[in-house]
Amino acid sequence: MSTNGKKIVEVPSVLTVRDLANLVKISPINVIKELMNNGIMANINQQLDYDTAAIVLTELGFEPREEHPAQAEADTAAAPATLWQRLYASEDPKKLKPRPPVVTVMGHVDHGKTSLLDAIRHTDVAAGEAGGITQRIGAYQVEHNGRKITFLDTPGHEAFTAMRARGAQATDLAILVVAADDGVMPQTKEAISHSKAAGVPLIVALNKIDKPHANPERVKKELHDNGVTIDEYGGSVLLVPVSAKKKIGIEDLLEAILLMADSMEIKANPDRPALGTVIEAKLDKGRGPTATVLVQNGTLSVGDAVVVGSIYGRVRAMIDDNGKATHKAPPSTPVAIVGLSDVPNAGDMFEVVKNERAARERAAENAARASVTISGMPRSKVSLEDFFRQAQAEGRKELLLIIKADGQGSIEPLVNSLGKLERGDVKTRMLHAGTGRINEWDVQLAIASGAIVIAFNVEVDEAARRMAESEGVDVRKYNVIYKLVEDIDKALQGLLEPVYADKVIGRAEVRQVFKIKSAGMVAGCIVRDGLAQRDAKARVVRNGEVVYDGHIASLKRFTEDVKEVRTGFECGVSLTDFKDLKEGDVIEFYVKERVN
Ligand code: GDP
Repeated sequence: MSTNGKKIVEVPSVLTVRDLANLVKISPINVIKELMNNGIMANINQQLDYDTAAIVLTELGFEPREEHPAQAEADTAAAPATLWQRLYASEDPKKLKPRPPVVTVMGHVDHGKTSLLDAIRHTDVAAGEAGGITQRIGAYQVEHNGRKITFLDTPGHEAFTAMRARGAQATDLAILVVAADDGVMPQTKEAISHSKAAGVPLIVALNKIDKPHANPERVKKELHDNGVTIDEYGGSVLLVPVSAKKKIGIEDLLEAILLMADSMEIKANPDRPALGTVIEAKLDKGRGPTATVLVQNGTLSVGDAVVVGSIYGRVRAMIDDNGKATHKAPPSTPVAIVGLSDVPNAGDMFEVVKNERAARERAAENAARASVTISGMPRSKVSLEDFFRQAQAEGRKELLLIIKADGQGSIEPLVNSLGKLERGDVKTRMLHAGTGRINEWDVQLAIASGAIVIAFNVEVDEAARRMAESEGVDVRKYNVIYKLVEDIDKALQGLLEPVYADKVIGRAEVRQVFKIKSAGMVAGCIVRDGLAQRDAKARVVRNGEVVYDGHIASLKRFTEDVKEVRTGFECGVSLTDFKDLKEGDVIEFYVKERVN
């Protein structure tokens, strides 16, 4: 109680309407009503910031206090908060206990990621004796000096970033595998960029040191040139020479992981209902939908009711990484669970709820919404034109860029001129700069981080283009440096206006003109190419001249109003404020398309 007799409630910086209702044990309906009284329309899953929550709580007779305000400020200024940090941001610090670090392995193809994961798994004698070593559930744990480490079994930054793009992040640390006889290669650079973008620290496993052409010194220098400075060079990144094949240095690597983990806040609250991420999932012939989940907070138990997006169920059985049945999975534990209604996607987040009925209801609510994250932070998409407005609204200080160029020669001037841009307290940050076409992983990284993708003199892969389009990622093509720099500079100041151009999507020829009492003039047409579209704009071209430019009043097939008519089909068209259509006229249907 405070001095004025009101009950003090600690409120996280972001919470949903449901969380707020739970916090003070009132019905969410009352919270929604109170929000409406204050002019805010919200549904039960809507995110509220502290200020909004505080207004509602005050009106309801409570005295709100913001939880860890200092932490929240630090998070916006520093590297992106990892999912783990967000997950337990609202936990009572006294309830947080150390948990095993979760590690992902990244690096260039053939540098030994899979071999290293195998070698590490085989160090665990206990698992070997249990005879379960052939079981793979997508992640496993090993013990070193009595402490556990969890490894995700799908190596590569691709899986890592795909997961982040879905709003999840399972990893605390990344092992960057670099072959000592090959050095830093394109995917090594990508892995560096992707882990940095996620704020996940790296440990370098300098692999294949058994090879006669191994050249550790060269690799160390190349790493330094790519922004990874190892401790020997005065940096903070640990480097461990290993041979996955000869099983040299594996214990040292585990030691380095635990050392790193000790310097980080690797904690969770084991005494609460579980939540975490789906690592992989499949339809098992005998067991039905089976999902390997990584528990990220709380403890998962057999019998728990779970929701994974629009899928729900009850944990009927849990299988650990040695293929054995288990009953409890504390934080950082991977387990395969059986009992879901369907097969979820890797990267989906799961959550334990009160009972199966609640799970079903939540799943239905989630199904009604397009994208679900329980991380408390919806990903925000950025476009260059909108950056400034978003930056102001969300307190963003950085415009994140991913650049692909035609050659190493163009990257340096690009990075130099863009990296220096700064307007007021907003500036650019380069997440990744590389050569070659824009691929899906560039787009994934952009989705995961809220970045803009720039194709400088390079093409965009078809799959990447499609993904960018459906996910709303801004991919921009440039071939002149000054124009690119100018646009980015304008974007930082909110001065960049979108440029639109007309794109003709179809042409129809007027065959006959009718006067209809109710509709005025209607032209009977045939679509010669493309599409006639109701929502498009229209131009009338007569003898090569445009005699009308305006809107479509109606588009019909016979007597039916239709949205579009395809090539070769007849249709009836009438135009807004134009009564002068003639036989032989061509109606061009066009849309405005953004060109920058
Ligand atoms: P990934 O593509 O990064 O997963 O690489 P793999 O683990 O499949 O390894 C690629 C190749 O390198 C395989 O032929 C491995 O046997 C070999 N390899 C992996 N680690 C070592 C090592 O420490 N020493 C040697 N000599 N070969 C290795």
